[in-house]
Amino acid sequence: MSFTLHGLGVSGGIAIGRALLMSHATLEVSHLTVGPRMVDKEIARFDQAVAAVKKELAMMKESTEHAPAELSAFIDIHTMFLEDPELIEKPREIIRARRCNAEWALVQQMEQLVEQFEQFDDPYLRERKLDVRQVVERVIKELLGHPSRAVMKADKGLKEETLVVVAHDLSPADVISFKEQRFASFITDVGGATSHTAILARSMAIPSAVGLGNARSLIRDGEILIVDGLRGVVIVNPDERVLEEYQLRKNQIELERTKLKRLKSAKSQTIDGIDVALYANIELPIDTPEALESGAEGIGLFRTEFLFLDRGDMPDEQEQYEAYKKVIKGMGGRPVTIRTFDLGNDKDLHPDASAHDRVKTNPALGRRAIRLLLAEPQMFQTQLRAILRASKFGPVKLLIPMLAHAHEIDQTLAALEQAKSSLRGEKIAFDENIQVGGMIEIPAAALAIGMFMRRLDFLSIGTNDLIQYTLAIDRSDEQVASLYDPLHPAVLMLLAHTISSAEKANVPVSVCGEMAGDPLLTRLFLGMGLRIFSMHPSQILKVKNRVLKADVGELAPTVRRMLRQEEPGKLREALEKLNA
Ligand code: PEP
Ligand code: MG
Repeated sequence: MSFTLHGLGVSGGIAIGRALLMSHATLEVSHLTVGPRMVDKEIARFDQAVAAVKKELAMMKESTEHAPAELSAFIDIHTMFLEDPELIEKPREIIRARRCNAEWALVQQMEQLVEQFEQFDDPYLRERKLDVRQVVERVIKELLGHPSRAVMKADKGLKEETLVVVAHDLSPADVISFKEQRFASFITDVGGATSHTAILARSMAIPSAVGLGNARSLIRDGEILIVDGLRGVVIVNPDERVLEEYQLRKNQIELERTKLKRLKSAKSQTIDGIDVALYANIELPIDTPEALESGAEGIGLFRTEFLFLDRGDMPDEQEQYEAYKKVIKGMGGRPVTIRTFDLGNDKDLHPDASAHDRVKTNPALGRRAIRLLLAEPQMFQTQLRAILRASKFGPVKLLIPMLAHAHEIDQTLAALEQAKSSLRGEKIAFDENIQVGGMIEIPAAALAIGMFMRRLDFLSIGTNDLIQYTLAIDRSDEQVASLYDPLHPAVLMLLAHTISSAEKANVPVSVCGEMAGDPLLTRLFLGMGLRIFSMHPSQILKVKNRVLKADVGELAPTVRRMLRQEEPGKLREALEKLNA
């Protein structure tokens, strides 16, 4: 019988294959009482399993040295859980006190921890309960004598490329092992858009879906599945006609991907000869090869705060210098725009870190980004010195987040001068003429753009925050996510105003928020006058494809007319026409 399941698509594309059900080890756990003389042995068995999983994670980390940044970060988080007394000490106490078997002690402690994670207001932290479950699942598989990888092996005489893994949940480490095993897709019962597994799938471009409810209990081993990773739909046992239709769509998508790759070396220029610069956004130095691979002209946004998220302490000047140098050298002479730390909002320091308690009740409106840096001169000087020192290895630009006031720019420039002068005093080389730009992400900045342009060398519009602050929508609150609208007329007005003002004043302006990487908005931006885009490397060729087919001479008057429209429905209609 054919049926359809609906979940959340986490990575575009279509996969067709046979179901391979992955066992859910925590469900297999038996509840046993161990004799008093067996307690120590049971604890030793538990310790051995933890050590084996740790070793396996360490090996995985080594083998993913050149993989996307997310991969090793997730292994670190799982390893960290395996060092946490809550997960390591407590089960030992339970074994001793309640005389239960190691598996059962671990599951009891896991339930306790999961409950604690569910109390968090922050959706990201809430989702970390999945990481706890995944780590525990791994240890239990080890205890049961079938380590995770063995369970993942395709042993049904079928090629892995034709298999869709069906699981209650998967850990990022499981997803990493897909890299070697090349499954067609994976689908899971649980997981949200910000779950680590979902983020990983996106970075590895495996068409997949999560949050399907009870896929694992409804699907049987060997059944044929179609996974639509864009819409989050899974069709179980499709009939011939549906199968043919999806096979056709799958072939089309693959053809388009191959064609896009050919654009890598094409000059990014419109039909009427206008050059359009396409830059990459990165989070960590290991993202640099992907940026180059996508044909990026440089780095338009290096979100430096990711250098120490999840680690709880601040990297010192030398460590930061090494990280910046790695990116600058890696980009081989292409410009690198380094944004100073944007901390304090959803990107908070580890709870133990000193700056944590300075962020008040509404972090998005609180002491965030440049506000925090100006309040922490030591932290700011350390970063500025590190960036300046690295600037001798290639063209570097400095980008300041969350500016609203002219005096914030003045103070920033004074801090930069102080850092320069200390380096001069120490006879350390750096680029004296380093350019300084500001992020336009607060409506006040977009409206009073003159005072920014007079003080700065360039501007970069952060649409993610600009939308958040224009519409008063907390971008990390899933309950108001449906109101987060990039096409709201007010957002478009602010964008158009900023871009045209900068153009008139001859100040370079880019867009580096998510909107820049949406190919459906490329023509709109080109019509507004935008010539510099910065985005996730995976989007660059898709946007380039749009640029190559655009005629700005034709687009500009159409977009001008379109922007006079204030009715959201009509705006959307006009955008559809613009893209037709
Ligand atoms: C933005 O706000 O659009 C932006 C690029 O910065 P971040 O997403 O890091 O806040
Ligand atoms: Mg921002």
